Parts: sequence; structure tokens; C-alpha cells
Amino acid sequence: MEGARRFFAQQTGRDLKNDITVEVLNKDGDRLLGYSYGRRAWIFAGGADWPTGVGLEATSIKQSLVAHEVFHNFQWDLQYTDDSLPSRSPFWILEGSAEYAAAKYVAQLYAADWRQFVEENRAFLRGKSVPRLDAGTITTTDIYVKAFLAFDALMGARPLRVLGDYFEDTGRMDWRNAFRKNFDLDPVAYLEQFELRPLP
Ligand SMILES: [Zn+2]
Repeated sequence: MEGARRFFAQQTGRDLKNDITVEVLNKDGDRLLGYSYGRRAWIFAGGADWPTGVGLEATSIKQSLVAHEVFHNFQWDLQYTDDSLPSRSPFWILEGSAEYAAAKYVAQLYAADWRQFVEENRAFLRGKSVPRLDAGTITTTDIYVKAFLAFDALMGARPLRVLGDYFEDTGRMDWRNAFRKNFDLDPVAYLEQFELRPLP
């Protein structure tokens, strides 16, 4: 957890203003492996989906899961300041950016090939029909993978610092304006274009 925090602090150029708590519970999260609210996160380690074993794959899944929740805490921390009027980003941005940032952290830990990682995620969705990213809050693995791919395409070669800027801006302006300011794109137009493009 400290590793993920240091990585995000370094990459986004901001550290957490407040400490966060990550609790690991030995219970089933009802399909969820992790959940965050405010400056707290819970990891559900008692369910059937929890990766058991001590191999590299199980370890990297757990590292990615914790990093995902830590990134949610960064999102929260950047938005909520003493004088903020936070504008809550839509589900696909909150989850897509957390998946993206966590994957960047784990890829850096293992010096993994990023393009290959993205390709594996594409292959996972190929041939599947996955709901639109603006269809509301859906918590399936497919939709998280799709949100990750939408975010990866959006980020391109942009550094993680842009995510720090974006979430900080959403503490002061409507998220749509923050999106335009940091990505030079209209969020609705971007999503429309992503949804229309079949996964290669
Ligand atoms: Zn999440």
C-alpha cells in the first residue's frame, strides 16, 4: 500500500493530504473485491474471487487491487479541500482511471510490457457485448476492463500527472470542464467515439 501511495504521489506530483485506511476483511464482498468511500477502503479477501496462492499472478492481482483502492483515495483527497465544491466524475472515469493508475503501478513493479498488457485486456473483451460505459453503475469485470481500455486510449502518452490535475480541478469546476481543460476533448464526444469504434 505504501508502495502504491509513493508511486502515485511521485507520478501525480501530489501526496495525500490525509492518511487513509485500508482494511482487509476476511469476508465475501458479493462479487466486489474492493470498495472505497472517502478516505477508507475495504478489501474483501474472503470470497470465491479472491486470488489464493503465493504465485506471481495472485500477488500482482492483490497489489493491483490495493493500488486501485489507494487511487480512489487520491481522487477523493484531490477533490475535497476546505473550499472545494466537488463535481463527481462519472463511473467510467472514476473506475477507468483507478484501473489505469493501478495497472501503471503494477507494470512498473514488474517492468511489464504495457502494450502487451493492453492487448491482453482487449483480447479479454473480444467478441463480447459489453454495456455502454455511461449505462450507469455496473460492477462486472467486463465493464472495468472496458473502462480501463477507454482510459488507456484517452491517456495515450499523457503522464499520470494529468490525472492529478484533472481530479484537483473537479474540486473547483464541473467535471466536464475539467475534462476539456486537461484532455482537450469533449467528454461526451470522446465516449461516443469510443463506443462506436469496435474493439480492435
Ligand atoms: Zn473502484
